This record gives sequence, structure tokens and C-alpha cells, in this order.
Amino acid sequence: MTILEEPIKEPLMLRNYVGGEWLESKGEIVDVVNPATGKVIAKVPTSTKDEINAAVEAAKEAFAEWRRTPPLARARCMFRLKDLMEEQFEELSRIQTMEHGKTIDESRGETRRGIENVEVATGIPSFMMGYNLEDIASGIDEYLIRQPLGVFGIIGPFNFPFMVPLWFIPYALATGNCIVVKPSSEDPISQVKIAEMAEEAGIPAGVYNLVNGGRTVVSGMLDHPDIKGICFVGSTPVGHDVIYRKCGETGKRVIAQCGAKNFLLVMPDADLAGTIATCMTSFYGNAGQRCLAGANLVVVGEGLSEQEYDAFYKKIVDAFVDTASKIRVGYGLDELVQMGPLRDKDKKHNVVRFIEKGVEEGARLRLDGRKVNLVGDWPHTCFLNPTVFDEVTQDMAIGKDEIFGPVASIMRAKGFDEAIEMIHSSPFGNSASIFTSNGKMAREFQYRVECGNIGINVGIVAPMAFFPFSGMKDSFFGVLHGQGQEAIRFFTESKVVIQRWF
Ligand code: NAD
Repeated sequence: MTILEEPIKEPLMLRNYVGGEWLESKGEIVDVVNPATGKVIAKVPTSTKDEINAAVEAAKEAFAEWRRTPPLARARCMFRLKDLMEEQFEELSRIQTMEHGKTIDESRGETRRGIENVEVATGIPSFMMGYNLEDIASGIDEYLIRQPLGVFGIIGPFNFPFMVPLWFIPYALATGNCIVVKPSSEDPISQVKIAEMAEEAGIPAGVYNLVNGGRTVVSGMLDHPDIKGICFVGSTPVGHDVIYRKCGETGKRVIAQCGAKNFLLVMPDADLAGTIATCMTSFYGNAGQRCLAGANLVVVGEGLSEQEYDAFYKKIVDAFVDTASKIRVGYGLDELVQMGPLRDKDKKHNVVRFIEKGVEEGARLRLDGRKVNLVGDWPHTCFLNPTVFDEVTQDMAIGKDEIFGPVASIMRAKGFDEAIEMIHSSPFGNSASIFTSNGKMAREFQYRVECGNIGINVGIVAPMAFFPFSGMKDSFFGVLHGQGQEAIRFFTESKVVIQRWF
């Protein structure tokens, strides 16, 4: 066991970044704890209503100048931001492991995916172009231009502290808007680092603001008449009942990417070794705290006799349990570790409650992650090992609710149609995957399934920065999505001009 050097040696005192200044908050201060070691690594304020209002004011003031800054100059800020992120790539990744718990490989992947959004936004001079047509009537021309709107609020979840706000930040800035970012108060350090880099990259004072905190900051954003739109990523109850509802009432644009319960179908003709290996990262990557994580594995008996199906089901379950039992759990800064802790002890207790319910409701517990077995000597506060249930049905809590932890529910479906019905009976529609070697079946799956992100022999359907991060039903509220061209449209107004010269 070798632990990589920790970049945070003493607890950091985090501040807000408003109008180009680093300000201490008057709000209550809370600890940010490394879930693997139990050590306090930062102290973060829960800012006040006045502080969020001041940030919106600063952003509004900066907007007048920033929107007039040529797109090419704004793109250069993105290039500088990208360079700084590349220079600090390893430090940024280790910080994510310390504040969230994910393994260093997962953190490096997250850093890379975040930077890719900055890279895409450097193309803004081309992406922001409108279109035109001469002679819509004799001597009259018409054209469309895209203009920024003003100030946007960006609210992040705890599970991807570095990457998720970057689904929005670079596009908002490159299109000429100003922003106020509110990171998750559970792991806000990465976002403070990005704000520091934005300052160093020469993004002018007031264009990029960061206000730490929780509900008070969010409600301050939602109530503020000068916030034109909100980008939110988090749970469905907050995303729907708080964010989407309030944005509707106040007429703000909104992207609300929410919770999930993702199904993975294994067909009899699937490649067994490839499927099981892919399932491990899908169900247990990020300790299951991923909106794209596999939750329900459906073993489909399409075309099989009863006997053949039983044998196929057993083969899948045995291989799944055997491979999951070998996953090495520990502190993510140990490069041999494959799964880190849950983000905090409440999240662990929540997952443990689901495991208890699974047992009570009659599912078969094939691998009990409550028996914690660690690489290294760490406090057991937030750790769990992988759990596998089989013979799960959709009326059980573990079969229908979002657990957000390292628990796999294996289910049966006699045929393909039944499996599709199972997906559709879930209120969520974030992602679904099929494992098969039958192209027609895969095409049918893609065509029929009501989910925003579809995987064909892929377990984590994470769209690249130049594609939208989609989602349907209770997993997404809004019209346009984060990332790429859709984000650029979200952050701009389409203005149409018709001109004639006498
Ligand atoms: P959360 O809803 O608890 O918190 C998200 C953000 O909202 C945080 O910044 C938090 O401070 C704030 N918040 C929490 N409660 C609030 C309230 N009552 N009023 C106002 N603001 C509030 O979500 P989380 O636990 O941080 O993240 C996990 C959830 O996010 C999971 O459900 C996961 O599926 C979802 N998620 C979805 C996507 C996606 O793209 N669909 C991506 C990542 C995570």
C-alpha cells in the first residue's frame, strides 16, 4: 500500500469570490471531512442572503463590459483556463479524492472530462454564429444573432465536485454571460480552485463569482430578479419541487438534471467477460454515487427455454458476485484501490438502510457489503464493500428507489418486451444499457427506450463534452441540456433582424 502525497496538508479556510475579491463570509462555518481518513481538510461558509445578493450585483455590473468583449478574447480566457487546469491536473485530481472519496483514477477521469468542456468552449467564435438569408422579399434581408442574457446561477451536486459545474461554466462565460457558482457544501474545494484559476486566467472581476453555502444561497438565486437562468444538478425532489417550480414561477431559464435508477439488460448472446467487467465500473465506480451508475441488472431470457434461462441466470449472477467480491476498497489515494468510501456517514447509513430493506422484502443477499474489508487501516465510518442482491423485483425499495451507493439489484425478465416494460415502469429516465451481440435488438432498444442516454455494450453512458448530457422523465426538467451546442443555445437569446434600406 502506497498513499500518494496529499495536496492538502492543513485545513483550508475557504472564502467566497465576489467582484474579483476573496471575501470572508458572515455565515456559519462547517467542516469538510475527508471520508476515508476522517480528517477535516477545509472549513466552508454557508453564506448569507446579503452575500448572494452582492455576488449577483457584481455579476450584473460586469456583464455590460463582458458581453462587449469579442468572442475571440473570451475564448482566449478559456484557453488560459485550460492551460492552468492541465498544469495542475494531478493536484486537482488528488483534491477530488480527498474531498469526495473517489479513487485517484476516477478523479483523473473527472478532471479530464471537466477540461474537455473548457476545450469545447474555446470554439465559441464559430459555435455562437447565427444564420441569415438575403432577399426574404425583394431587397430585404433577415438574420439571426445569438446574444448573452446576463447573470446565471450554477448549482452543483456532491458526486462530481469538479466536473459537473463545468458542464455549464465555460459555455456561460464564452457566450458573454456572467455567473455565480454555488458548489455542493459537502465538497467545495475543487470549485474554489477553479475560481482561483479563473482569476489567474484573466477573467475580469465580477464575471465569475463563487458563493459557498446551501439552501439560503440557492433560494437567494431563485428569488433574485437579475438571475436569468439556473443550471442545477442534483436530486429529483430538489430539482423538481424547488428549482424547476420556482424557475417556472419567476420566468427563469432552467436546466435541472436530476436523479436516476438505471437498468442494464444482459441478453443471452452478450459477451460474458466484457459484460461483467463493464458492470463492475458501472455499479461500483464512484462507490455507486453516479447518476449514470448501473442500479438494476436485468437478466433477459429472450428465446431460451426455462431450463436454459435458469442456467444463464445462474451463470451471470455467479460471475457478477465473484468479480464484485474481489473489488479492493480503501483510500482512493492508494493506486491499488478500486473503490473508495461513501461521501459521508449519513450516506453510508442510508445505503445500509436500503440493504436492510432488501433483506426484509425478500431479495436474496448474495454479497453483503456491510462486512467491511479494507486495503489499509482506515476508520470504517464511511466505507462499504460492494453488495449484490438477486431475485429482486420492482416493488422492492432496492428495485425502484435511487440508492446512490454500491448496491446491485439483479432481476429476471423472461423476454425483451418485459425488460423494456420494466424500464418504463420506473419514473426515472436517465440512462439504460443493453449487452448483446444482436444489432437488430440493440437498434430496437435504442429506438424504444425512454431514457436520455442509451448504452450499447457500454455501462456508463457519459456523453462527451460536444454532445448534450441528456435525461428524460423524472431525471431531467427543462428543454436544452448541459454541454456542447445545447448549452450554447441555453446561454444565448436568438434575436432576429429584418433589414431594408430605402
Ligand atoms: P442534492 O439535491 O441534495 O443537492 C444538489 C445541490 O442542491 C447542492 O448544491 C445542495 O446544496 C443544494 N440543495 C440541497 N437541498 C436543497 C434544498 N432543499 N433547497 C435548495 N437547495 C438545495 O443532490 P446531491 O446529493 O448533491 O447529488 C446527488 C444527486 O444528484 C443524485 O440524485 C444524482 O442522481 C443526481 N445527479 C444527477 C446528474 C444528472 O446529470 N442527471 C448528475 C450528477 C448527480
